[in-house]
Amino acid sequence: MALIVQKYGGTSVGSTERIEHVADKVMDSRAKGNDVVVVVSAMSGETNRLLALAEDISDHPTPRELDVLLSTGEQVTIALLSMALEKRGCAARSYTGSQVHIRTDSTHNKARIREIEDKRIHADLAAGRVVVVAGFQGVDDNGNITTLGRGGSDTTAVALAAALKADECQIYTDVDGVYTTDPRLVPEARRLDRITYEEMQEMASLGSKVLQIRSVSFASRYNVPLRVLSSFEEGEGTLITCEDKEMEQALISGIASNRDEAKLTILGVPDTPGVAYQLLGPIADANIEVDMIIQNVAPDGATTDFTFTVHRNDYSRALEILSRTADELGAREVSGDDKIVKLSLVGVGMRSHAGIASTMFAALAKEGVNIRMISTSEIKISVVVDEKYLELGVRILHEAFDLAQPEKI
Ligand code: ASP
Ligand code: MG
Repeated sequence: MALIVQKYGGTSVGSTERIEHVADKVMDSRAKGNDVVVVVSAMSGETNRLLALAEDISDHPTPRELDVLLSTGEQVTIALLSMALEKRGCAARSYTGSQVHIRTDSTHNKARIREIEDKRIHADLAAGRVVVVAGFQGVDDNGNITTLGRGGSDTTAVALAAALKADECQIYTDVDGVYTTDPRLVPEARRLDRITYEEMQEMASLGSKVLQIRSVSFASRYNVPLRVLSSFEEGEGTLITCEDKEMEQALISGIASNRDEAKLTILGVPDTPGVAYQLLGPIADANIEVDMIIQNVAPDGATTDFTFTVHRNDYSRALEILSRTADELGAREVSGDDKIVKLSLVGVGMRSHAGIASTMFAALAKEGVNIRMISTSEIKISVVVDEKYLELGVRILHEAFDLAQPEKI
């Protein structure tokens, strides 16, 4: 008998009809002999509706009160799902985050889970009940309701699975798994049977928005097998797990694209110790995160050129700060470009294989795609190219590494 935590996202519980369907799926899992704990999101659109109500009242709603408001969305779905289960003759109990002691810190609107008490849940399971827990919410040491940040129900599910030592955490959503790349860009994109935590973190942070990224780090830390699957169609989904040393790893698992970045360049900065700090210190002080960084000593040996990327939302602020620093340091020129995209190849298999980067660069060169920046890590190679090459670039790379579905004869 296995213990399974199932999480159903907003679209999966988007109507009473959908909730009835979820109840059927929970019953199926029970019929296979599993103990089931269910975590649900609010009905799709509900959290946004509540946010809009708050914004009608105030430009800056009190974070504590916002949490009291936003947590109500999930309270609706836990009750409805439990009713649907009871109607099917399945004993069920719904709980809010505070009722099962999902203890968090006091950072309202983006609280972090500290611990979860498992006694009550285990007692319900032992009594043959399905336990239905509200996602996205917890309680701090003073009894205040907290929420975990948008998409936080994924993290609730993984944290519960870790605390209960569940055999698997299943994330039901509106896509049937994790794909080699965005199927809207490349129709031949293929669903992956499995992917490592590390790869998933790279894919997610690079813009594949299947899961709240925090939930993947959590799963990796506590070694919770995580499965992404669709509540709309049958299938095995994608298993996210640790690296299997026995198994031959795929060279490349996927290609991520990110259009949220912008790049800034400063030319002719006097090349002295501390210059990187002088340039990026004020950027960091303004709470702007820097992603890629390239520094190049100019041919004269006395000055250096510096290029880095930031989130597009921070672009104009970063440009302003950099221009000020340029004046202070007597740099020659500052420029920027927010019409760029980052394309990344991700795969744990590239650790043990040479020549991946050259295959990537050759494929882009052949189609005349100019690479503006490059950065690498052990399991990732990223390039920055002009925005207009987004679709072409992803398609070229998907083909160059043969990621499409094998042809069926
Ligand atoms: N209902 C919350 C949101 O929309 C949490 C979640 O769905 O995971 O962000
Ligand atoms: Mg969600």
